[in-house]
Amino acid sequence: MSVALLALVLTACANEQASVKGRAPHHRDGTFQNNYVEFAPRGLMALLRWKWQAWRDGLPAPPKTATPTIVPDLGWIQNNAKAGAAMVPAVTWIGHATVLVQLGGLNVLTDPMFSNRASPLSFLGPSRAQKPGLWPHELPRIDLVVISHNHYDHLDAASVKLLAAQNGGPPLFVVPLGLKRWFAGEGISHVVELDWWQSHKLGDVEVVLTPVQHWSGRSLTDRMETLWGGYALFAPQLHVFFAGDTGYSKDFADIRARFADRQGAASGGGFDIALVPIGSYEPRWFMREQHVNAEEAVRIHLDVGAKASLGIHWGTFELTDESLDEPPQKLAEARRGLNVDDSRFFTLAVGQTRRLPPRRARN
Ligand code: ZN
Ligand code: ZN
Repeated sequence: MSVALLALVLTACANEQASVKGRAPHHRDGTFQNNYVEFAPRGLMALLRWKWQAWRDGLPAPPKTATPTIVPDLGWIQNNAKAGAAMVPAVTWIGHATVLVQLGGLNVLTDPMFSNRASPLSFLGPSRAQKPGLWPHELPRIDLVVISHNHYDHLDAASVKLLAAQNGGPPLFVVPLGLKRWFAGEGISHVVELDWWQSHKLGDVEVVLTPVQHWSGRSLTDRMETLWGGYALFAPQLHVFFAGDTGYSKDFADIRARFADRQGAASGGGFDIALVPIGSYEPRWFMREQHVNAEEAVRIHLDVGAKASLGIHWGTFELTDESLDEPPQKLAEARRGLNVDDSRFFTLAVGQTRRLPPRRARN
């Protein structure tokens, strides 16, 4: 063996040891990083360039059609909420990334956002184009809240405080690493913090935080200081994947591989439903690493092995350059392009519920 080759082998061994002994690579001296892209939030010049180009081009263009809304079926939702083991698996789109997921006898909310503005300020910042599909007082008692990250359109102080004060006691908040402290600052202590791939069980539902490709920060000084992620929710009758806010990456193939054992054909196959963002993607040069477009959303649907997907994170807050009504149109094109049946990746009206066939009823 040549000296060079020997040196190479020894170095490789040393590296392997270091990575086994050390913390996972997404931990960086008190901050966090993505698995597949070194993400540095773009600087002020890039932000100004984006905003100048948008102003010059008159973007985003006003939507031609309003985001569809319907009167929610509150009677059904409330009855189902109390059904315990007889609960029918269902998802109700409340708007943006907020979904009521009913599974395993639990009522779960993703990224609850009921406020008028996704902003630190009550008078400035993106405001809602649509009311929430259900107001907090119309919700059943919520057992579990999962938070994907701390951006204002996903973690809203007023909304989590309302939920913490609900009748019957606070829900359990499951959050990525670093966010427990923020909740404590809001007077909320019923919180479990997870690292990527860590899990927590509540009743019949197991919650696992998964990597996705994004970033965090609520001000200019706290970038990447708290973790972000998606969630896998496993109940006997339903497996759900909530992608949170994300760019496209190999993380989704990793998620499929990670859960392959528990989701094999014998146990009903992959996720029964994935909640995948389809909006906030333009301009691509600025957004690509942090927000998927519709085509990438369909790739996530395929990568995680979802039987069905619901498009979220659109039609509610005008955050980026595409029109509010464009994401479902682009989703339709993407489905055709990737040969995915319309029924397999759908959108709902704000307030609409989709009941899902229980896992065990399938082959
Ligand atoms: Zn975000
Ligand atoms: Zn977002």
